[in-house]
Amino acid sequence: MSAPIVFLLDVLPADAVADEATLEASITSGGDGSGVLSVFDLGPARGDGIFETIGVVGRHAQSVDAHLARLTESAAILDLPAPNHAQWRTAVDRAVAALPDAEQSAVRLVLTRGSGERPTAWVSATPASGFPERADGIEVVLLDRGLSSDVQERSPWLLAGAKTLSYAVNMAALREAHRRGADDVLFVSSDGFVLEGPTSTVVARIRGTFVTPPASSGILPGTTQLALWEYLEAEGHPCEHRMLTPDDVMQADAVWLLSSVRLAAPVAAVDGRPVGIDRGLTAELNAALLARTE
Ligand code: PLP
Repeated sequence: MSAPIVFLLDVLPADAVADEATLEASITSGGDGSGVLSVFDLGPARGDGIFETIGVVGRHAQSVDAHLARLTESAAILDLPAPNHAQWRTAVDRAVAALPDAEQSAVRLVLTRGSGERPTAWVSATPASGFPERADGIEVVLLDRGLSSDVQERSPWLLAGAKTLSYAVNMAALREAHRRGADDVLFVSSDGFVLEGPTSTVVARIRGTFVTPPASSGILPGTTQLALWEYLEAEGHPCEHRMLTPDDVMQADAVWLLSSVRLAAPVAAVDGRPVGIDRGLTAELNAALLARTE
């Protein structure tokens, strides 16, 4: 496997208008990422920070604007300094240019509260492996997230809707799915609504309409779902944001988990009960997501 690529950012204020030379000078190589972080950094020490994972197809980083918009939203929710989009975009471009030739890769943007006055920021890039589950499908289990679907309004300090570095719970949920013989998870709110996966957005096709839960339910708004909606709406398919129950999912024509690198993974079973896979439509959706020019 090739060595990861890392660039460190000397964070610029969001509103700084910097010329190309200044932007370039604010981004330095972090080698392969070893030995560049303080053990006192609040990112690794407390999970106090935010991140984005961007899919790269060939040398095209996908939906960068949507990822930067979400990074900005996450920064606002965590009271972190707003990111300078030009600087992060320059760092993404440099990381993509340094990647070895690969069909697909992933670029990760991280902003932590740092260990002193200043935040810590870096961009890393690694080639991504093949994704047989895009064709074969995934089995999911329903797991109670233990939070109600109005968590964002009632308890904003729980940071629902921000992509924080605190993913230990999400990773534990995936391990629980593996223990149960499944591949992935669909979180359910304590008041009985299907929310999202630990690293993905759920989309169901119900009597011809594509449905995904609203951001107000405390989920992370997905950039892949956003791109999919653009494609589907342009193709004339009805699309909606509304709450979904487990029964809606079980009775759907087809269900997918969407995320930036794996893209659309069709759901083949929920809690061991088979769900229909629409192979033709899944292939079409993944082709559209791979062909993005933005
Ligand atoms: N929901 C959660 C909790 C996630 O972690 C992710 C991505 O990692 C998503 C949804 C999907 O977001 P995107 O499509 O932008 O990758």
